[in-house]
Amino acid sequence: PFELKGKSVYVAGHRGMVGAALARRLAREDVKLVTVDRREVDLCNQAAVFDWFARARPQVIFLAAAKVGGIVANNTLRAEFIYDNIAIAANVIQAAHVNRAEKLMFLGSSCIYPKLAPQPLREDTVLTGPLEPTNEPYAIAKIAGIKMAEAYRSQYGSDFISVMPTNLYGPGDNYHPELSHVVAALIRRFHEAKLAGAKNVVVWGTGTPRREFLYVDDMADACVHLMKTYSGADLINIGTGEDIAITEFARVVAGIVGYRGEISYDTSRPDGTPRKLLDIGRLEKLGWRATTSLEDGLKRAYAAYQAAASVPAQ
Ligand code: GDP
Repeated sequence: PFELKGKSVYVAGHRGMVGAALARRLAREDVKLVTVDRREVDLCNQAAVFDWFARARPQVIFLAAAKVGGIVANNTLRAEFIYDNIAIAANVIQAAHVNRAEKLMFLGSSCIYPKLAPQPLREDTVLTGPLEPTNEPYAIAKIAGIKMAEAYRSQYGSDFISVMPTNLYGPGDNYHPELSHVVAALIRRFHEAKLAGAKNVVVWGTGTPRREFLYVDDMADACVHLMKTYSGADLINIGTGEDIAITEFARVVAGIVGYRGEISYDTSRPDGTPRKLLDIGRLEKLGWRATTSLEDGLKRAYAAYQAAASVPAQ
């Protein structure tokens, strides 16, 4: 196994939902956590990244920085999603190589798999078919990062690994009404409807798509586990192994938030890919399983949302 103890560990993207969870998780390890603010180093700026790396020389890197968002953000900010994410991956991976980092983990996404790949999605189906159009720019950038890690491993022998998380949620999520992912969007919408005494809440699409949701602190725990135990060119999916239809998911969120009105569907909004359930066989063989149930994770996410918004609790 790879020893983290005593190492300087850089979390790229520590202000994001995943990076912040990684920082929380790494606080329980005997490591020197290294972070740097965007004001100081813009990860899209090659010169800034190369300069900072030459000075900081982190030994271990979790590459959790990315421009992310829900289906509408991905589909409308297409240029920003492809440019920022390619730039971040290219700059950080090359800087890690030049400065001889011992190990790097690249965080990909389940949207790298073909839209119509067989479910549950196996890691070896990457690049076997066309992508879901709404998030193709993001997926292409993530595939570029994966292929970089793989290429540096094969040409330079770098210990660079890639993991593919399923849809994540939890404290520190983005609650923007248009640009967020479904979990944050529905927590906010049901919460606001409850406070306003509204009788109807609109959920996007047909409600038939199925998604798998992983609580972000479980994701961080899986990343630390894999950093210590896994080394190889194969991608590793990180998920729970269970998915849920958006219609059912909306009822669960409404229940947790305490919204008792109607739920209707706006089919002029995109559904995205019909189903996105990861095959977690590899992850399980490597000895990791999610421990937070969807119910518990949503309760914690809702509590964090209320604390952040400083709104009265139920
Ligand atoms: P995706 O997994 O990349 O499609 O990411 P999202 O989290 O944005 O969307 C997941 C599913 O939830 C899609 O089928 C959306 O149509 C559906 N959905 C329902 N209501 C909402 C909403 O208010 N916001 C978002 N982002 N998605 C929603």
